[in-house]
This record gives sequence, C-alpha cells and structure tokens, in this order.
Amino acid sequence: MAIDTGRIEAAVAEILSAIGEDPARAGLADTPRRVADAYAEFFAGLGVDASALLRAGKHSGVDSGSTGELVLSRDLQFRSICEHHLLPFTGVAHIVYEPDARIAGLGDLARVLEAVAARPQLQERLGQQVADAIADGLGASGVLVVLDAVHGCVTARGPRQTGSSTLTVAAVGSLAETARRAEALALLGRGAT
Ligand code: ZN
Repeated sequence: MAIDTGRIEAAVAEILSAIGEDPARAGLADTPRRVADAYAEFFAGLGVDASALLRAGKHSGVDSGSTGELVLSRDLQFRSICEHHLLPFTGVAHIVYEPDARIAGLGDLARVLEAVAARPQLQERLGQQVADAIADGLGASGVLVVLDAVHGCVTARGPRQTGSSTLTVAAVGSLAETARRAEALALLGRGAT
C-alpha cells in the first residue's frame, strides 16, 4: 500500500495544534509536508520482500560450493524507527553468513538491511528479519546478525542516557548452534579491534 502523505500532513497539523502551537505560523507552515516526506522515506520498506532482493540474483554470484567458510560484512550503517515511540534508532550491523550455493554481491546485504529497517521496528526483530531474509533469499546455511544501535527514545527522553547503545544478536541455521555461533562472534570481535 502506498503511503498516504496527505493523511500524515493532516495528522501532524493536528499534533501541532494539540501541543498548543499554531500550525499556520510561518515557521510551521511547511512542517506537516516535511514530516510526511520524511515518514514516506522512513517507512518505504513496508511491503518490500527483502529476501527477493537476494533471490533476484543480479548482484549475487555462485559460490564454488559450501566449504563451511564464513563470510563477514562489517559496519553496515542503518537507520530505523522504533515502533514504540516513532523515534529513530541508528547504528551499525555486522553480518556473518555461511553460504550454501550462492554468495551475496557487494551492496546486496546493505539493500536487505535498508528494506527491513524502513518499517516501524524493534531492534531485536530487525536483526531476526535480516537473518531470515538472507537465509531465505540466498539459501545460506546459517546467518548471524549483530546490531549495535543508539535509540532516540533512550537518548532524548526519560532518563536521557546519551552514551548508551543496545547490542542484539540474531542467529539462524548453522550459526545458531552454540559452537558455530561462538566462532562467528569471535571472528567479528577479532576484526573489530
Ligand atoms: Zn522507542
């Protein structure tokens, strides 16, 4: 479903009125439209089948066959919107996968991350959905996704823990097994220092 920017504009004007502002004053006149444009961008991934981005295979190649070698992609930047407060959370993703028949092309994993992040999200679910999309779309034997993010709802409201980041780990398939999971995490840790 396409995003209805007109409804967002009306809702934002209503919020401005509700906080006691005048939505018609010069500084705010274009705000509903700007917010609607931003929301259209924030939520452009709704309805996008992320695994299909990998299945299309335009950028992915055929591997020589599974050798148990792990592929790492580190420090992929992302921005998502927390579904509890509609505030941004931003950070980096580290993705490890064990290929079966196919490997992802450069940029493919970033595209999957971007599509899944462009929805009202929870960090834990974002990692899980990225892992599932790679396992499904690429046919990977195992996937592990580490997300390290700073949440606007933590840094800008409540106790305002400006230095706090949240780390989550999602793993599927072979990399959900204890020994392989530990190996993948150790590999990421080694590369990060
Ligand atoms: Zn939140």
